[in-house]
Amino acid sequence: MLYVKAPAKINLTLDVLYKRPDQYHEVEMIMTTVDLADRIGLDSRKDGQILISSSSGFIPNDSRNLAYQAAQLLKDTYGIQEGVLITIDKQIPIAAGLAGGSSDAAATLRGLNKLWNLNLSLDTLAELGAKIGSDVSFCVYGGTALATGRGEKIQELPAPPTCWVVLAKPKIGVSTAQVYGALRLDEVKHPNTKQMIEAIETENYDLMCDSVGNVLETVTFNLHPEVVMIKEQMKRFGADAVLMSGSGPTVFGLVDSESRLSRIYNGLRGFCEEVFAIRMLGERNSLD
Ligand code: ATP
Repeated sequence: MLYVKAPAKINLTLDVLYKRPDQYHEVEMIMTTVDLADRIGLDSRKDGQILISSSSGFIPNDSRNLAYQAAQLLKDTYGIQEGVLITIDKQIPIAAGLAGGSSDAAATLRGLNKLWNLNLSLDTLAELGAKIGSDVSFCVYGGTALATGRGEKIQELPAPPTCWVVLAKPKIGVSTAQVYGALRLDEVKHPNTKQMIEAIETENYDLMCDSVGNVLETVTFNLHPEVVMIKEQMKRFGADAVLMSGSGPTVFGLVDSESRLSRIYNGLRGFCEEVFAIRMLGERNSLD
């Protein structure tokens, strides 16, 4: 059995520039990996079947599973006869804005590349991953990156200034399609992506905290007011920056001291079932 780590991502920025003729939104996002990961086990099967066994009853275990789709795509593209049993130990909250499914798919691509001796480059895996979902390309590389296009064009960035992250996911699932559908681009406040890149490149923690922004926040806040409450609590307990990740509902807070990290974590647990106090990973080579 080969094990691969599938870490969650957070959006330090998420901007939507316009809606394209192909109906996708043109985005500009800075994403970074955090130290909360699913563990994917891969076991080759002689009978050619793809099987999913998951620790969670809330994700599909058939061809709707993004890890299944990743294995199928490699089989179809490279004419692989072997099958695989994919075991998913789910730690990342589901439908949370943390790219859990995309990361499972990306880890499956990376792992099967080894298990089936395909010797494909990360760039090739990322290109394939984009066929499964827009966030899969970023998850193939991990680390920190500027993602453009529909999210599949990846430019690597250095690791952000060292800090801690608190994640809090209220007990609701958010439909990404519904959030994008309700977005009114003439009404949003766009984040300053350039300034965030400068903060990362100059290792300026305060500037990074000042530069977080997500155009989808107001949409999700209108649909699910409980997310606003989590954000306010996190600020009140002392986070230096607070933002919703992706289309939500997970809210993250940044802190540069471990004692404040504990204060926020303990404070939030009274309001929210799923709370995590973790490190930002930020570097590409921290994946396996
Ligand atoms: P993103 O941040 O990329 O929008 P997300 O964190 O909001 O993603 P996911 O946890 O990836 O959302 O789940 C979205 C949907 O994908 C769920 O409804 C789930 O049923 C489906 N799904 C398919 N495969 C997986 C998987 N391996 N893990 C989690 N969800 C999966």
